[in-house]
Amino acid sequence: RAKSAGGAGLAAYDPQMLSGLVQRLELEADLRLALERNELALHYQPTVDLRTGDIVGFEALVRWHHPTRGLVNPLDFIGIAEATGLIVPLGRWVLTEACRQAVAWGAGTTRRLKMAVNVSVRQFDSGDLSVMVAEVLAETGMPVDQLCLEMTESVLLTDTDENLTQLQRLKALGVTLAMDDFGTGYSSLAYLRRYPMDILKIDRSFVDRLGGDREDEALVRTIVRLGQSLGMTTVAEGIEDAVQLATLRDLDCDLAQGYFLSRPLPAPDATRILAEGLATKLPVPAVA
Ligand code: C2E
Ligand code: MG
Ligand code: MG
Ligand code: MG
Repeated sequence: RAKSAGGAGLAAYDPQMLSGLVQRLELEADLRLALERNELALHYQPTVDLRTGDIVGFEALVRWHHPTRGLVNPLDFIGIAEATGLIVPLGRWVLTEACRQAVAWGAGTTRRLKMAVNVSVRQFDSGDLSVMVAEVLAETGMPVDQLCLEMTESVLLTDTDENLTQLQRLKALGVTLAMDDFGTGYSSLAYLRRYPMDILKIDRSFVDRLGGDREDEALVRTIVRLGQSLGMTTVAEGIEDAVQLATLRDLDCDLAQGYFLSRPLPAPDATRILAEGLATKLPVPAVA
């Protein structure tokens, strides 16, 4: 719009753009303080075994309780955190908090829940991620086989050799690695084979289209088979209704997450559903 009005210089006079910039700068300044002020929190969304209906783990999702704006969505501040480098301390805080919670849930039980934590590609550029992860595991007493790190394909696309080395170190530590939002980026078979990923998370956009259309079902089936043939555990994200749940189970997808099963919950609520279970949400088992 500024361009057609006569030149790039005019952009500064666009009040909408200016207020967007001011908002972003304000948010950036606030985010610097958010960690010290304890404004971040984690919500936990269960991962459910599609065979048994058991909760086998949780994904930690960061939330920001801003003093004046209220709850700010991660999609509105993770980008700022990445651009400013704040993702590094923020990422460490998230990992520490998630591990503490997993250890607390594990206390006094033999149940070994998996805790999945999202990591950004920027966390790979800032020194050795495996060193940070090893430190946090030691600090929190978290068993390494309970930790899963989720990342998007961007990690596999940038700085490939260095990131591959870091992923191999994480693997050597015993961390489980998950490819998040699979199918949305430049997913290729070559990447999946080259990188030591254990889990394939089928992006919500594919799950969303299930329920009637045979071609959409064929697409999801193909992704599930791809994961299986590479020896990966398959997870469907964003299950919103019983039809999607039943379809994925019939396609032999291993695990599922989604609002239909449970929204991401604050820790006390997650503790409660862990005790109660989600079995009632599962469809009647298929006749063998
Ligand atoms: P993601 O890792 O793919 O997480 C799944 C997102 O989908 C979450 O959004 C979750 O609340 C939402 N979701 C789950 N089930 C459903 C469903 O049935 N329907 C719909 N419509 N949505 C569903 P959220 O919490 O807003 O997080 C968005 C993204 O922000 C995450 O996508 C992840 O990429 C990023 N993120 C969240 N927490 C962190 C973090 O601690 N560190 C980093 N680096 N990124 C994070
Ligand atoms: Mg994720
Ligand atoms: Mg995802
Ligand atoms: Mg997603």
